[in-house]
Amino acid sequence: MARVTVVGAGVVGLTSAVALQRAGHDVRVVAAKSGLESTSGAAGAIWLPVRIAPGGREFTWAMRGYKVLHEIARTTPAAGVDVLTACEVVEDEGRPWWADAVDGLELIPGGDLYPSAALFWSFLAPRVEPAMYMPWLEGQLMHSIEWREVASLAEVEGDLVVNCTGLGARRLCGDDELVGVLGQTVIVAPGELRMDTFIGDERDQSAIFYSIPRRGEVVLGGCRIEVNGDVVPPPDPALSEAILGRCRAAGYEPGAILRERCGLRPVRPEIRLERDGRIVHNYGHGGAGYTLSWGCAEDVVALARDA
Ligand SMILES: Cc1cc2nc3c(=O)[nH]c(=O)nc-3n(C[C@H](O)[C@H](O)[C@H](O)COP(=O)(O)OP(=O)(O)OC[C@H]3O[C@@H](n4cnc5c(N)ncnc54)[C@H](O)[C@@H]3O)c2cc1C
Repeated sequence: MARVTVVGAGVVGLTSAVALQRAGHDVRVVAAKSGLESTSGAAGAIWLPVRIAPGGREFTWAMRGYKVLHEIARTTPAAGVDVLTACEVVEDEGRPWWADAVDGLELIPGGDLYPSAALFWSFLAPRVEPAMYMPWLEGQLMHSIEWREVASLAEVEGDLVVNCTGLGARRLCGDDELVGVLGQTVIVAPGELRMDTFIGDERDQSAIFYSIPRRGEVVLGGCRIEVNGDVVPPPDPALSEAILGRCRAAGYEPGAILRERCGLRPVRPEIRLERDGRIVHNYGHGGAGYTLSWGCAEDVVALARDA
C-alpha cells in the first residue's frame, strides 16, 4: 500500500482518488478549489463517444466509463447518474466508428424531435449531474480534502503524487500544449424540452447546439472557443440569447433561465496519462472528462502498482 496524494478535486482527480483508495492505497486529495467550482462543475455532463479519437487508449477509457457509469446509474441513484436516450445529428447514413460500442444504436429520422435534421444516431448514454455526483465521489474519500494551491508537484508529500489539475497543469507543469476551450451553457427549467432525450447537433462548429436534461432542469449549449490563459470569462449574454434561439428554432420553448455557466475545457493534442518517477500525470481530458474518468483512473491504479 502506498501513501498517495492526488492534486485536483475535479471529476478526474476525485475518480482517480476513489479508484486508488479502492485498490488499497492511503489516499489524500489536495486542491485549490472544489470540482463544482472548476471545469467539472460547468459540464453537461453526458457520456459521448463523439468527442474522442477513434481506436487507441482513449476509446478503451471511454468504454470503461460507459460500463462503470451504467453500473452507478443502476445501483446508486443518489450519485445523480441516469441513462438517457442520446440523439446525435448526422448528415449521412454511414455507421459511426463507435457503432458497436454503445447499446441500443439505431438510425432514426429527425422529424418532430429536431426538424432541421434529417437523421440521428440514437443510443443509450449515461448522464451525470455534477451537483450530485461530485459530492458523492467526495463522500467516499477516507480523508477530508485539503484546500490549498500547490506551487510545485515536487513539494507534495507521498510515495506517489497524481497530478489531476486539469487546465491548472498549464502553469504547474509549464505545459503549453494544454489550452482552454470555452464552453458556455444556459441552464433552464424544462419548459417544453424533452426530459428523457439528449439532442446534439455539431454540424456547424460555430453554432453547436445541445440539450441535456437533468432530473429537474435542462442544460442548453453551447460553444467551443479557444482562449488564451486560464481565466474563465463571465457568460456572454449575446451567446446565451443565441443558444436560446437555437433551442426555439428546434421547436422547443425553454422554461425560465435558472443560471448561466462558463467553463474551460482542458484540451491537449493527447491526454497526458503517464508516470514520471514519483509523479503520475492525468490531465488534458478536453470535453470528455466524465466520459473518460473511470478508464483513466484504472490506468492510474495500474501505474501506482508498478511503483
Ligand atoms: C460547457 C462544458 C460542457 C462539458 N460537457 C461534457 C460532457 O457532456 N461530457 C464529458 O465527458 N465532459 C464534458 N465536459 C468536459 C469536462 O467537464 C472536463 O473534461 C472535466 O471537467 C475535466 O476535469 P478535471 O478534473 O481534469 O479538471 P477540473 O474540473 O478543472 O479540476 C481541476 C482541479 O485541479 C485543481 N487545481 C488546478 N491547479 C491546481 C494547483 N496548482 N494546486 C492545487 N489544485 C489545483 C482545481 O482546483 C480543481 O480542483 C464539458 C466541459 C465544459 C466546459
